[in-house]
Formats: sequence, C-alpha cells, structure tokens
Amino acid sequence: MTPEEIKDRALELFPRLQEWRRTLHQHPELGFDLDWTAAYVAGELRKMGVSPHTGVGISGITVDVGEGEHMVALRADMDALPILEKNDVPYRSLNEGRMHACGHDAHTAMLLGAVKIISEMHHEGKLPGRVRFLFQPNEEGQEQGGGALLMIRDGVLDGVEAIFGQHVDPELYVGTAATRPGPMMAEADVFRLTVKGRQSHAAYPHQGVDAIAISAHVVSAVHQVVSRRVNPVNPAVVTIGEIHGGTKPNVLAGEVAMTGTIRTFSTEDRDVIEKEIEKAGSIAKSLGGDYAVDFQHGTPPLVNDPELTEFVMEEAQRLLGTENVFEAQMRMGGEDFAFYAQKVPGAFVRLGVRAPGERVRPLHTDTFDLDENALPLGAALLSHLAVRWLEEASRR
Ligand SMILES: [Zn+2]
Ligand SMILES: [Zn+2]
Repeated sequence: MTPEEIKDRALELFPRLQEWRRTLHQHPELGFDLDWTAAYVAGELRKMGVSPHTGVGISGITVDVGEGEHMVALRADMDALPILEKNDVPYRSLNEGRMHACGHDAHTAMLLGAVKIISEMHHEGKLPGRVRFLFQPNEEGQEQGGGALLMIRDGVLDGVEAIFGQHVDPELYVGTAATRPGPMMAEADVFRLTVKGRQSHAAYPHQGVDAIAISAHVVSAVHQVVSRRVNPVNPAVVTIGEIHGGTKPNVLAGEVAMTGTIRTFSTEDRDVIEKEIEKAGSIAKSLGGDYAVDFQHGTPPLVNDPELTEFVMEEAQRLLGTENVFEAQMRMGGEDFAFYAQKVPGAFVRLGVRAPGERVRPLHTDTFDLDENALPLGAALLSHLAVRWLEEASRR
C-alpha cells in the first residue's frame, strides 16, 4: 500500500480517532491502576475483530496481527498524571486531579487506529508479516518499576525483530515529525543524600553539630559536580529537587535530607557523578557530622538504532514530505521506551501536535492540549513504518 493510501485510510478514521482520544482523555488513570482504560482499549480491540491479551505487565495489553516469518512491534503508553486539568473543553478530565497531560491518550488512540488499518490490510492479504501492538501501563512512574520493564519480563519482545514508538511533541507543528540516530533521551536516576549532625539548643551551637550549616557546603559541592567533574561536551544534569531539615527556630537541626535527579547519556558519566556526589556528602565528615547517600537507577538512556532511524527518516519523509521531517535534538527527559530499545533495534519518533499559530502548550502542565489533526498522521506513520519494515524484511 502506498503512503498516500495509508494516509487516506487514517484520515477516514479521524472521527473514531478523535472519539477514542477524547474518551480516554475524560478517564485518566495513573500508573498500573488502569482498570477503566484497559477495559475500554480491550473492548475497542474486540470490536475490530482482533484478540487482545490483557493483564500483560500487570495492566498492559498486547495484540498480534498477521502471519509470516517476520515480526515488528509498535508501542503506546496509556497512563496519565496526577494533575488537575485547567482546560475548559467538552472532553475535560472527569477524574478530579488526574489528567492526560503527557498525551498518552493520543498515543493510545493512534495505536488503536494503527490496529484498525493493519488488521484490515491483513484481511485484504496485503500484510507481509506480523505486527505486535503493545499498550503499556505506567510509563510515568518508574519508581514503582516501570511498565516497559514489566511488559518485557512478560515476554512481549519474544520474536520481535524491531520496535517503533512515538511521543507527541507540543513544540513541533502538526504535520511534522522528528527523530535522531543514537542517544535521544537521557538516563533518569534518583539520589538521596542525608547530612547528619547533632541537635542542641540553637543558642549553644558549639554544643551540637549543625546539619543545616554543613548542608550549605554540601549543596554547593553537589552543584559543582556537573560543571567541574563531567566532560563539558557531554550533556548532564544534577538537580536537588527537595530539601528538608530542622524542626524549630530554637533547635539546632540534627539532620537534613535531600533528594534529586541525575540525567546522563552514558554509564561513565553516571558513575563519575555518583562518585562525586558521594564525595560532596563526605564534606559533612570533615565538618564534624556524617552523611549517607544512595542512588536509584531509573530508565536508561533512550538510544535509537542508527540504521532503523535512517529507515524511519526516509519513510516519514515519504509520508509527511521531505521538508516536514527533522533531526530531533537530544533531551534530558527520560522515556522508558529505552528498555525496549536495549533489547531489540528500536526507533522513537516525536510527532508534531502544535496547532498552526498556537502557543506551545508544554507536556506535564495543567493546560496541555493538542491539535487532533495530528491523530490520523500518527496512526498513518505507525502503520506505514510497520508495513514498510515487514516489506523490507521479507525481501532480505
Ligand atoms: Zn510524561
Ligand atoms: Zn509521555
């Protein structure tokens, strides 16, 4: 099927794509607790005549379509965020304090659209292989164990030779897309650093050890790790996002606890930063206190397979026009598609959803929204990539 034919089919699906997206938008759920969402998605899949497997990776869904030697996977995430929606739209969130503010409602709708297009192609005898569709829970909540990892543990990549994923991008205009070979999104890790002193009456500081005064030195040292210890040509971030200490104005603080995020693109840089944060903590010792530090590794860096990315660039250009596909910039955000791309060649695409002339409506904010004209383009792009990849694979 030509790119034009796939695009036409996706455009015909617009009313359904919009209905899927709006219905999902009204019923946002968090993490793995996707009872309503998963039941809705599975129900829509059954209506299309395909057989979903539910309860994969706790609350994820997979569907296989087609037959043949080769298999490619397409992935969407389904979870929302704990944000109170401020948009006054007919499809506003009905779940107070929860919102699809990262566009995962659109990702799920576009993947449903791709199932529809590809299963119809299969019935027409035009699908040269198998496509596995992954509807994943809990992309946002990596601290409880992310959805991608649990889906992989349940075997969703068995037999899969390549995987594609996409994310809406509020900075790119509708009709455009972007990707890049190699590293695209950062590794996202968490650190906890506790500075320990000894309480005393605040009027007699010499009788105790002031954890707050010591922490001031520790915080400065932590902020020098990236600027002084990491090779300046490598992107890296250390942010202390939280700090708590002390109980009363007239009590010397016995303990200060801080937590933060570390973003890197390589294990070497991550290891350097962890060692240096440890050293920053140890300043507490030379000042008469003590410290404890621990690190929790989250999503690895998202690294697109170079060859597969070149294929995506070419095919996206055929579908959207040469002038509408860009090389994406590296970003310090995390994305758990990285886990799939560690196991099989993967390519992740950013899809433009900004309405013409509209301001940027950033992800993870209470006024995020998108131009729904992007929905058929995203469904077409996913379908086109899967079908073209299978065509190439069966020719090899
Ligand atoms: Zn997000
Ligand atoms: Zn997201």
